[in-house]
Amino acid sequence: MEKKCRLGCSAKIDSDARSQIKSDYYSLLASAQDAHLFSSLVCSDPKQVVANSERHRLIAVKYTVCVRGLTETICKKAFTNLYGIS
Ligand SMILES: [Zn+2]
Repeated sequence: MEKKCRLGCSAKIDSDARSQIKSDYYSLLASAQDAHLFSSLVCSDPKQVVANSERHRLIAVKYTVCVRGLTETICKKAFTNLYGIS
């Protein structure tokens, strides 16, 4: 089982939701699976953070899943566990 994380993914995705997501995913063709995963990744707007004289470009990727019509943001670990990817 997943360890608890900051985002509380295991609470967001219960075992019913998990098996639903998996069965939906595995019912797709391989090319559609890729598209599905890709569409689950949300790149938040890269903000340029200027701290002192250094510039950092932060590109945050959010991992989302659709649980009963709601889009939930989960962490990368939960996402990869869910889809069995690494
Ligand atoms: Zn998590």
